[in-house]
Amino acid sequence: MVRTYSTERLLQALNHFFGYSAFRHTQLSVIQSILGGGDALAIMPTGGGKSVCYQLPAVLQPGIAIVISPLIALMKDQVDALLANGIRAAYLNSSQSNEEQQQVIIDAQNGDLKLLYIAPERIPAGSRQFFDFLRRINPSLFAIDEAHCISSWGHDFRPEYLKLAVLKKEFPTVPIVALTASADKVTQKDIVDRLELHNPNIFVSSFNRPNIHYHILPKKNAVGNIIEYIKRNPDDCGIIYALSRASTEEIASRLVDNGINAAAYHAGMDAVERSRVQEAFQKDEYKVIVATIAFGMGIDKSNVRFVIHHDVSKNIEGYYQETGRAGRDGLKSDALLFYSPGDIMKLRRFAQIDDNPQQSAISLRKLKLMQEYCEQEGCRRQYLMHYFGEQFPAYCGSCDYCLSSLEEKDATIDAQKILSAVVRTGERYGANYIVDFLRGSAAEKINPAHKELTTYGIGKGLKKDQWLWIVQQLVNGGYVYKSEDQYVTLSVTEKGWKILRGETQLRLVMKKAVKENQVATEPDYDIRLLEQLKSLRKEMAIAENVPAYAIVADSSLVELATYLPMSFDDMKLISGFGDYKVSRYGARFLDVIGKYATEHNAQSKMYFKKPKAARKEKSAKPVVGSTMDVSLGMLNDGLTIQQIAAERNLAESTIESHLAAFIAAGELDIDRVVTTEKKNAIIDIIKVTKQYVAAKPIKDLLSDEYTYGEIRMVLEHYKRLMR
Ligand code: ADP
Ligand code: ZN
Repeated sequence: MVRTYSTERLLQALNHFFGYSAFRHTQLSVIQSILGGGDALAIMPTGGGKSVCYQLPAVLQPGIAIVISPLIALMKDQVDALLANGIRAAYLNSSQSNEEQQQVIIDAQNGDLKLLYIAPERIPAGSRQFFDFLRRINPSLFAIDEAHCISSWGHDFRPEYLKLAVLKKEFPTVPIVALTASADKVTQKDIVDRLELHNPNIFVSSFNRPNIHYHILPKKNAVGNIIEYIKRNPDDCGIIYALSRASTEEIASRLVDNGINAAAYHAGMDAVERSRVQEAFQKDEYKVIVATIAFGMGIDKSNVRFVIHHDVSKNIEGYYQETGRAGRDGLKSDALLFYSPGDIMKLRRFAQIDDNPQQSAISLRKLKLMQEYCEQEGCRRQYLMHYFGEQFPAYCGSCDYCLSSLEEKDATIDAQKILSAVVRTGERYGANYIVDFLRGSAAEKINPAHKELTTYGIGKGLKKDQWLWIVQQLVNGGYVYKSEDQYVTLSVTEKGWKILRGETQLRLVMKKAVKENQVATEPDYDIRLLEQLKSLRKEMAIAENVPAYAIVADSSLVELATYLPMSFDDMKLISGFGDYKVSRYGARFLDVIGKYATEHNAQSKMYFKKPKAARKEKSAKPVVGSTMDVSLGMLNDGLTIQQIAAERNLAESTIESHLAAFIAAGELDIDRVVTTEKKNAIIDIIKVTKQYVAAKPIKDLLSDEYTYGEIRMVLEHYKRLMR
């Protein structure tokens, strides 16, 4: 059965389950395509948000979405992250005991799951039993992650993926979505053919990763520079890539000697040790991993802040994929590469494969382009985008080239000077004359009458070539018309007049003046609050035995620290806080924020936060069937809060926070859960303290008989009265 979902409805669901306010890239189209029952191929850069493409359809549709994923470590993380959003998911792979696998199978058959992750080797080529199992659990869709693994054209062919062709044969009506971060045209076609997709919709997103800043540095004292970089960013975690196993160990031990919490990782280590290191990194127990390229595919850590290439990569695909492991949470991250031409020479020798001249030629060509990337004069990002077949302007503002030699600035005043000079001199001259006139040239060729104009000589501040450059930009942008007659003359267009009249501003990319002190802009949040939030998150992560970012991403904590939400409603406007996360973790975060706000006399800045698109019409009300809804149902059945807590094996404060959400939504009367006497006492204190967020300062002024939950419920009630 195909149901249609409006964009609003999907946005609302995205918001409810994942706490995001907008779809990224082609997410919306991919989701609509899946829900429409068709096959799809989605190509999205690493960190682009592929998972949501199948996770959202999975929760919206009846049945269980089957996700094929090659990496065991990644599966566990994805499942943890889903559970943290209140979505029932599990995985089946060889890391589990028989009993564990049996339990998952039982849960699946009971319909207790929305997503089931399966390793490709678990799909036997001709096993009736397995397909019968799948049929019983009613698959809503098949998502094939890292789909390029099915193609020998891709860079990571895995033969066990070939078996996946059987899915379409066995389940012709179940939509398949194939997802990958890297697939050129040939690989795309290969994926479609081998999975036997029917007329798939193909979605290709831009490869640009705007939050990653690319830097190439000369390879001199590279390890010393790396140490210095890490010490400047002591809280950040990152990956350092080196070519040989020996050098990963050597670099790691130098980092450790310098007090950095680092470990090496390479294919020469045994599997147990490798997964120990990987897991410790996921959990932030190691800050830095020094690895050969063997490390990373299984890394789904969203807060990797830097990727450093100690040695140049063999090709741009590999380099780009590795740098792409940084900044999946969307926050600014660095990609540093230490370049020496000598490294290229070394790699050239490896690129030659004796018995395969064709392959050697391809490898050498790719290496040459890698070299060109490192040595070229120009924007790094533009080069990368062109490499992947995308148009991109010459200035990105966030690579070493753009930062050191170009800058974008407001050029409105300079443009006005030029335009007014063009007009005042009668629109009869070319660029050279105009610039000389502006700079107050004493030359004979300047008409004496023009020397009397007030615009004469007002442009002494810039050099001639700088002025000429701006004139050129004005011509390119259509602000000035350049006649191609016998004499080149400039005249001001209608667009140009808008600048002259001050109706539009003009920003231009300009060559920077030589001196430049990079002054880091102050973050507009207090780093101490962020630290407190991080340590609370860490506590929660340890208690639940999941990586910290599975609780909430760094970017969400930064938003909390920036906007200081003061209520559950506020918190729902923070990206990454879906309804479930707000109900589960919200209260504890709010306490930290509220306490901080009181201590530092800080005000909430929620006012600046634009309403989330999906929440314009204020839908604080928890969704039917949610954990909150269950609590309310039990209350309506006549149970007390204590009884509900005991019955559900949850803390009383949790139940109270569930009920608080209904009070906030106007669906539950405060008098049903708090006595009038207590309610009035709490409201009195709220009025005195003017504290509308944190419960603690209010509790401190009341006797022990008042619980946090009661205070929170009255807070929500009071805020409703005030609206
Ligand atoms: P991929 O699998 O494409 O590498 P993920 O699915 O792991 O990427 O998503 C990368 C990060 O982006 C995750 O932290 C995810 O929660 C976040 N994310 C995904 N979609 C959105 C969205 N629409 N808005 C905000 N964050 C998102
Ligand atoms: Zn750039």
